[in-house]
Amino acid sequence: MTSHNQELFEQSQQIIPGGVNSPVRAFKSVGGTPLFFKRGKGAYVWDADDKRYIDYVNSWGPMIVGHCHPEVVKAVQAAAAEGLGFGAPTAAELEIAETLCKILPSLEMVRLVSSGTEATMTAIRLARGFTGRSRIIKFEGCYHGHSDGLLVKAGSGALTFGQPSSSGVPAEIAALTTVLDYNDAVGLEKAFAEYGDEIAAVIVEPVAGNMNLILPKREFLDAMRRLCTKHGTVLILDEVMSGFRVGLQGAHGHYGIKPDLITLGKVMGGGLPAAAFGGRRDIMQCLAPLGAVYQAGTLSGNPVAVAAGLTTLKLVQAPGFYERLTQLAKQMTEGISASAKKHGIPFSAQSIGSMFGLYFSANVPTSYAEVMASDKAAFNRFFHAMLAEGVYLAPSAFEAGFVSAAHTEADIAATIAAADKIFAAWK
Ligand code: PMP
Repeated sequence: MTSHNQELFEQSQQIIPGGVNSPVRAFKSVGGTPLFFKRGKGAYVWDADDKRYIDYVNSWGPMIVGHCHPEVVKAVQAAAAEGLGFGAPTAAELEIAETLCKILPSLEMVRLVSSGTEATMTAIRLARGFTGRSRIIKFEGCYHGHSDGLLVKAGSGALTFGQPSSSGVPAEIAALTTVLDYNDAVGLEKAFAEYGDEIAAVIVEPVAGNMNLILPKREFLDAMRRLCTKHGTVLILDEVMSGFRVGLQGAHGHYGIKPDLITLGKVMGGGLPAAAFGGRRDIMQCLAPLGAVYQAGTLSGNPVAVAAGLTTLKLVQAPGFYERLTQLAKQMTEGISASAKKHGIPFSAQSIGSMFGLYFSANVPTSYAEVMASDKAAFNRFFHAMLAEGVYLAPSAFEAGFVSAAHTEADIAATIAAADKIFAAWK
């Protein structure tokens, strides 16, 4: 039987580099043919061969109310009928800005953009403009989009200049980024002791979801806040993924850490291209047209994207919304862990809010080094076996997973049963 996924992939590779419009979609990490999706509804997605999967990728985060939620679709249709874009301000932009600032008190002012990459890139520029400094700090394993200064890995010495992690990024730009270890408060302390007064910004995923799921240590978050305040450095919490995922007030609300700027995306766009950055008024007022830091976007605040985001943000504020998601994610990770234990497989799992991590390592990793030491081959085997069972996990051992409000207890039970069947035949 020919697979339509295979056919589409072969054709796509002729004219789209690697056959995909974003690298992780190519299944390079797990091997095999990527799925081409044609439809999503609630907790499920259907591929080009009409096979149904329980979806734990959620479009990499945005689909927190499930695919094609009727209210989101209705709002999008209504907005589209009124105009697809104006490149001029609309009342809906004011409404979503007010909604964001109401939910997240750390946002005194906010600006809309179209992708997480734009949000973090601009937050860095703004921090540099505000402080008049050039250096920034990021952490190994955190992903903040693909702007030049953020595609950087650690140099040879921990505190020395960063090096490009992508061809095409000039070494001179990478050298302005120092890359430190996540959850290493001592390393951060050392960097600040050495050149604290040159650091414009520290950017971090306050719950890391781009090296599988890694939770922050209390002392790491506290050191970051204390050192940034002491040295006049802008603390940028990148909540593009964790925002409206860890809980209504994101990771910074969950851990009670005050940012200077935050970046948002994914959930706040409801699946369409919308993202944002915001925070302290004195910093945000440096943006053009008020201030000298330039940033702009033809599609910023696009009315259709804003309609999807606004409706999603209304839905996530329903009483008990996050409590239920937290419970579902917990149920799933505990169920899969118990099955692995029963079958003697080195495995661990954890969740926070609606985000979860599955690790082929005996203990839950707390650092980039630990997560990289997990058994990638075992994950890849598990991934493909789950796919065959109709469960779609992120196609990489180093990505967090997501539950949505459309998942039912029956979906979770079916997922645990699928894992149990796979683990029973593991040897
Ligand atoms: N920051 C974080 C924490 C992310 O997870 C992502 C995307 N996975 C980005 C930034 C970049 O967002 P986008 O893909 O919308 O550019």
